[in-house]
Amino acid sequence: MIDCVVVGAGVFGSWTALRLRQAGRTVALVEAIGPGNPKSSSGGASRVIRMGYGADEIYTRWAMRSLAAWKELSGFFQNTGVLWTARRGHPYGEATLRVFRKLGVAHEVLSVDDVRRRYPALHFEEEITGILEPESGALLANQAVAAVAREAARIGVEVVEGAVAPFPEEGRLERIIIERGRALEAETFIFPCGPWLPKLFPQAVGRRIRVTRQPIFYFDAPGIAMPVWIDFTDPRGAYTIPPLDGKCFKLALDRHGPPFDPDSGSRFVTAEETADARAFLVERFPALRNAPIVETEVCQYESTSSGDFLIDRHPSMSNVWLVGGGSGHGFKHGPAVGEYVTGLIGGAESDPRFSWASRLEAATRSVY
Ligand SMILES: Cc1cc2nc3c(=O)[nH]c(=O)nc-3n(C[C@H](O)[C@H](O)[C@H](O)COP(=O)(O)OP(=O)(O)OC[C@H]3O[C@@H](n4cnc5c(N)ncnc54)[C@H](O)[C@@H]3O)c2cc1C
Repeated sequence: MIDCVVVGAGVFGSWTALRLRQAGRTVALVEAIGPGNPKSSSGGASRVIRMGYGADEIYTRWAMRSLAAWKELSGFFQNTGVLWTARRGHPYGEATLRVFRKLGVAHEVLSVDDVRRRYPALHFEEEITGILEPESGALLANQAVAAVAREAARIGVEVVEGAVAPFPEEGRLERIIIERGRALEAETFIFPCGPWLPKLFPQAVGRRIRVTRQPIFYFDAPGIAMPVWIDFTDPRGAYTIPPLDGKCFKLALDRHGPPFDPDSGSRFVTAEETADARAFLVERFPALRNAPIVETEVCQYESTSSGDFLIDRHPSMSNVWLVGGGSGHGFKHGPAVGEYVTGLIGGAESDPRFSWASRLEAATRSVY
């Protein structure tokens, strides 16, 4: 019997399998479709890696540790810099700066005039402040996940293709059954199944993780020179990623969309979503009024009530661990999540912040 079976080779599962193997465990990594597949939450072309998390220092620490790990996987981190904009005196921005000073995160504070001078394409009527993280940027997401899974396989993780069949949520789990009939036995089972967690664990997870539809747009915008940009001045919570690896200028709105089924939900954007995205683009980048949309993606967030991750033992299955609730910001933290889960399996103390008990059914998002 092996030590650990990890079900799901998204960013959380791939890094968890890699870190467990590096810690000396025997590990199998089971994946239904493929590491970083387009239906998974890790499946997009790019994800932002930023250090700023307001007063939520733990995520800044995790992002710092994770950035170092991502850089070791050469080629998947793109050091574009990350620019935040917020109304002057915004508590999230102020708290971010306090944490940056405490932890020594490289940053620059920009006045509205600095922002206008450096990024002339960006238009603001409001009095804003900018925070620039020059050492942050973006990750080539789906390619990076595939590389982590390959590295896990290289050092001895058995990668198994196939979907794990549902099982009763009670007692000790002895084995899982993979489609086409193969069974896998292990001491410990870890389920980083992203948006599929509520389906596989309807009792323990159910409505504790809400899956929402999130459209993404790529505009043809040659000549717009920007770092990654995150806007905190507007409840739509938009962010943009400059052209990377053959993709165009990416725009997404971070507000939660309607409920979404990761298996059957349509991956085509709607006319209303397109109109919203273009309206936002034109407000902030007037020069892009007529920029053509070159490509779109529809992904999904799997969000907990607060936006904190769910990383805990199943409440009624002693050798089963639930790992998920990336809540629209989990990708960058893949390495730190893998490290944390490896510690828990080895008996390390858990942080109540990620506990099953604190994942409520009513949404009160506080982590972004
Ligand atoms: C549009 C969008 C933008 C985002 N932007 C950012 C960002 O800029 N920065 C950031 O840090 N984060 C971002 N996120 C969040 C981040 O991408 C997710 O939190 C993260 O990818 C979640 O990874 P995961 O491993 O938990 O889930 P997933 O990537 O979904 O992986 C789960 C895997 O489990 C497999 N699986 C499921 N059920 C089974 C089964 N029964 N048997 C076998 N395998 C199974 C699936 O096939 C899948 O591969 C964004 C998310 C979205 C959707």
